[in-house]
Amino acid sequence: MFAQYAFRARCACWLSVIGILLLLSGCAEEPSTLERIQAEGVLRVITRNSPATYFQDRNGETGFEYELVKRFAEDLGVELKIETADNLDELFASLNKPNGPALAAAGLVESDGRQQHARFSLPYLEVTPQVIYRNGEQRPTRPDDLLGKRILVLKGSSHAEQLAKLKLQLPELTYEESSAVEVVDLLRMVDEGQIDLTLVDSNELAMNQVYFSNVRVAFDFGDSQSLAWATPPGLDNSLLDEINVFIMRAHKNGSLKRLKDRYYGHVDVLGYVGAYTFAKHLQQRLPRYEKDFREAAKTNQVDWRLLAAMGYQESLWQPTATSKTGVRGLMMLTLRTAQAMGVSDRLNPKQSIQGGAKYIVHVKNQLPESILEPDRTWFALASYNVGGGHLEDARKLTEAEGLDPNKWLDVQKILPRLAQKQWYSKTRYGYARGGEPVHFVRNIRRYYDILTWVTQPQLEGSQIAESNQHVPGIDKSQPIQQTPPL
Ligand code: GLU
Repeated sequence: MFAQYAFRARCACWLSVIGILLLLSGCAEEPSTLERIQAEGVLRVITRNSPATYFQDRNGETGFEYELVKRFAEDLGVELKIETADNLDELFASLNKPNGPALAAAGLVESDGRQQHARFSLPYLEVTPQVIYRNGEQRPTRPDDLLGKRILVLKGSSHAEQLAKLKLQLPELTYEESSAVEVVDLLRMVDEGQIDLTLVDSNELAMNQVYFSNVRVAFDFGDSQSLAWATPPGLDNSLLDEINVFIMRAHKNGSLKRLKDRYYGHVDVLGYVGAYTFAKHLQQRLPRYEKDFREAAKTNQVDWRLLAAMGYQESLWQPTATSKTGVRGLMMLTLRTAQAMGVSDRLNPKQSIQGGAKYIVHVKNQLPESILEPDRTWFALASYNVGGGHLEDARKLTEAEGLDPNKWLDVQKILPRLAQKQWYSKTRYGYARGGEPVHFVRNIRRYYDILTWVTQPQLEGSQIAESNQHVPGIDKSQPIQQTPPL
């Protein structure tokens, strides 16, 4: 009897243990993608190595996609790990692997053909696909004009998809796709006449136009399209929802707009004509003075690309430039500054560059210590342009407005007030064309950014003139001409 009870009690006990275990396993669902990322503390993102997405510059990793996704990782409170794919097919293949990256941030168009391989976020940028041709050749103006042309696009791109659709209507259409190239290569190939046409997105062209002086837009290939981040297919919406909240917030709080301005704003600054003029001067003029910039930079401990950017702003790299106001030479020095910096001949480019370098360092050293880098460099440029007294006036007005006098973003808002009597009458040094240093700094920053991309680590050591014969991120021993013959 007792044994029977004991047996029953043991059974009951085991049953309840099993019951509890079953219950527990029922409650403990698989963690969602978002929970997993948060638990691991790492967000793995796949992208492309290109000026419009992700690359290395003087300060390390940068690029529009990189900056945006970095902010997202910061919001999640996790570390960002970037992986790069060599081409778009590889990118989508990685995204679809079981242990692949959580998302792709790679300037991707949300196209029809991609719907099975990815789920897209809300859009963060509108772009227009554009047909690109070489200046001097007959300009195509409509899809029929693509017939009989050598056309190359990125393999697996939204443009390859668009051309495939067009081929259904125009069966004679021929084109090639390559997975061995990036957008920079396509544009260079058009620039050099290796191919007749390519298709790229307007944002990619905006980023690259400055390097290729012969590249022109033939026509827009259809309506604008949305760039979005891609997450793997599946039913788990946790990450996608979080991304969408982030993108919506970035639209609303203006951070997306600021990022666009930072990366694509030079198109507004330079304008379309200015962009290819800069590209021409980069190839034709800068190589003559690159050595002088590098030497002056070394002697004065500044970045040579900053000096080169200043030289472009001042004279478009022309050593005999003169202005009505008496400033002269490649760095446009006044007679007084030139004398103070030991320049005897302002029209001698080497001397002018040395003088400009010495002067910018001198001006920077005069700035209050409370201004830290990188703002310190922008303040130094503003002071070089408008003078230390006026800059100090603007800093005081900035402070009086409750803004930060040590932040360039704040002071540049106030500087234009120095041209308005209601404001300058209250200052020590009075009237100044305060809008000018704002443009001056903005332009130089753009040129500096461009020069930084052209001379990024993998290109360093080569002369600027040769630089766009090399392919960033691709082994130089494999010239692009080796891509499948057309
Ligand atoms: N946005 C393109 C795509 O989604 C890639 C970049 C380009 O070709 O301009 O395929």
